Amino acid sequence: MKDRILVHICCGVDAVYSLRKIKELYPDAEIKGYFYDPNIHPEEEYELRWLETKRVCDDLGIECIKGEYQLDLWLNKTKGLENEPERGERCSVCHDLRLEKTSQLAKKIGFNKITTVLMMSPKKDFDVLKSIGEKLANKYGLEFLAIDFRKGGGVEKMNKLSKEMELYHQNYCGCVFALFQQRKGEYIPELTVFGRGRPAGSREELLFIKKIRLYAENLGLNCKEEEFQFIGWKILSSSLKINKEPVFHNVLYGSGSINGLLRVRVKEIIKKDNLTIFKLNKGNAEIWGLDTELKEISLKNPRFLTSPIFIVGREITEILYSNPKIEMQLKTEFNPLTKSRNLIIGSENAENIISFHSDTLLDGSEGVSEEEIKKAILDNREDIKGGKTAVVIFGAKHIGSIGEKVFKENQNSLPSAIS
Ligand code: SF4
Repeated sequence: MKDRILVHICCGVDAVYSLRKIKELYPDAEIKGYFYDPNIHPEEEYELRWLETKRVCDDLGIECIKGEYQLDLWLNKTKGLENEPERGERCSVCHDLRLEKTSQLAKKIGFNKITTVLMMSPKKDFDVLKSIGEKLANKYGLEFLAIDFRKGGGVEKMNKLSKEMELYHQNYCGCVFALFQQRKGEYIPELTVFGRGRPAGSREELLFIKKIRLYAENLGLNCKEEEFQFIGWKILSSSLKINKEPVFHNVLYGSGSINGLLRVRVKEIIKKDNLTIFKLNKGNAEIWGLDTELKEISLKNPRFLTSPIFIVGREITEILYSNPKIEMQLKTEFNPLTKSRNLIIGSENAENIISFHSDTLLDGSEGVSEEEIKKAILDNREDIKGGKTAVVIFGAKHIGSIGEKVFKENQNSLPSAIS
């Protein structure tokens, strides 16, 4: 009987070499992937790892089934084990759940062997995985393939392939409990979710790029990611009171913190395009009044570690002309290691560049839809293949068109551009 192997997959990085190894060891077998990982938090991270898994499987011509995201089930199973260290009892329960579901699916679809790419990770205990896998395979009348993918330079090969494919490389195993232990009370950006928005440097922005990449690669187009680093920013807390009443406001990207409570009055009013700038009598803070409803502002140029700027809508702008009492508080934080990327579909030297951007403002506005970009890729597919046209999706547009600047700088540094 022909071997039919169901491979449990947790992420693209762990799958990229191990799937090749399974194909090499079982050249005549039918191989299918199963992405069942309700341990991954939050769901956006789960989606990101799924997309990268899909890319790896598509590249190898292996079908991969996406399992249900059964977070409640996972939380129930691991109840009481939240404080267990990594590689402890919680991890055994976590492996057990994922491999039991894999066994059940294998049985259901008539596969006779199971294995898991978790055995690729140097952070996982091979013997524990082997014993759980064998116990479950036995229970369901299957065979568990205990393959030590790390042997014979497996980890180096995995890293090389993962780099070549520009795979997303997560920096935590998957669950919140391990993440809490790993970061010990620090702010955890991985757990920040932006709803509809895809702010520059967020996982949502990355997810968007990866979705487009998967689409383009499945059309047979070459893709390249151009990663860049910038100073990320976020608000910890903010408050603006006019005549003691709290008012709705936004804070401009890059604003520094205010030390304590700032009590001020308007000192000077400057009109600039559709803005009224209220300079204040103390500190370096400003209030920018819009002549529209309150909305976010997109930056034309990067703005780093500068004066705190609050933004208010038309109604509050009008009140500010009456020189009211103003109270301001602001705490922000900077992360110099924030990353975004450009996605280049086709050749960066193409004569026609069709450009889009991947990020949105914090409130989800001013973004380009996935459909719009996919349509442009499809309509120009032949020209992209022929090297005449490229579609480029720039990252971090709303905080000063950083992606576009990086792309242009890199283009100018190409030898052909210098000569
Ligand atoms: S650390 Fe990883 S293996 Fe362990 S419980 Fe969390 S997600 Fe599962």
